[in-house]
Amino acid sequence: MPASRRPLIAGNWKMNGLKASAGELAAIAGAYDAALRARLDLLVCPPATLLAAFADTVSGTPVMLGGQDCHPLGSGAHTGDISAEMLKDAGASAVIVGHSERRGDHGEGDAVVKAKAKAAWRAGLLAVVCVGESLEEREAGEAAAVVTRQVRQSIPDGASAATLVVAYEPIWAIGTGRTPTTADVAEIHGTIRRVLTERFGAEGEGMRILYGGSVKPDNAAALLATADVDGALVGGASLKAADFLAIARAA
Ligand code: PGA
Repeated sequence: MPASRRPLIAGNWKMNGLKASAGELAAIAGAYDAALRARLDLLVCPPATLLAAFADTVSGTPVMLGGQDCHPLGSGAHTGDISAEMLKDAGASAVIVGHSERRGDHGEGDAVVKAKAKAAWRAGLLAVVCVGESLEEREAGEAAAVVTRQVRQSIPDGASAATLVVAYEPIWAIGTGRTPTTADVAEIHGTIRRVLTERFGAEGEGMRILYGGSVKPDNAAALLATADVDGALVGGASLKAADFLAIARAA
C-alpha cells in the first residue's frame, strides 16, 4: 500500500456493549502505544448510547470513536433516529453508513446511503461507506458488478481521502467465520480502487479500502497483507480488546 495510505483498524460493536464495557475500550486505548500509533489509526464504533461516556474513556488518546449509522437530516421529527451532528456532539469523529445490516434490516438503498455519507461530511465526520455482495450474487458471478454499482451510487461527489473510507464486506462472510480467498479479496479491492480512481483521480489512490467479514486474529495478517487492503472493519472480534489489538498488531 502506498505510504500515503495509513492503515485503519475499525471495530464495529453493533448492538453490543453497556457502560461496563468501557474497560475493553480502556484496554485498547492503553495498549495503543507509540509503536502502534506510528503505524496505524484505530477507530471504535460502539452503540450511540455509549459514545459520550466512551469519549471520556479515550480522552487524551488518539483512539477515534464512530457511530454505526446516522439520519440524512441534522434534526427534526424522526423518532428514534440519530443525526450525524448528534454523533459528533457525543464525541464521534466518524460514522459507518450503508452497513449490510442497515441495508438489509432497514431497506436502505444506495441513494439513502449516499445521503447519509453527505450528512456525515456536513457534520465534519469521516464516512465509512460499506459495500458487499450477497452469497447469491457471488455464486452468480456478480460480486464485482454489484460492488461497482454500490461504490458508484453510494459515494457522493466531492469525496476525498480525508473524508471517505470504503469498507468491502461480503455479506456471506459477516459473522459466519467464512472469508473470501485473498485472491478474491484482491480482485474486489482492485475493482473498488479502479472505480475510485476513475471518478476521483489521484485522490482515489489515497482513499482507504477496508476488508470486513470474519476478520480474526488468526486470519488478519494474510487479509491485511493483500493488495489494496488498507485495514479492517471488525465486528465480533472487536468486542474483546485482546482480539482487536491482535488484529491491529497484524497490520
Ligand atoms: P464480523 O462483522 O467481523 O463479526 O464478521 C463485520 C462487520 O459486519 O462489520
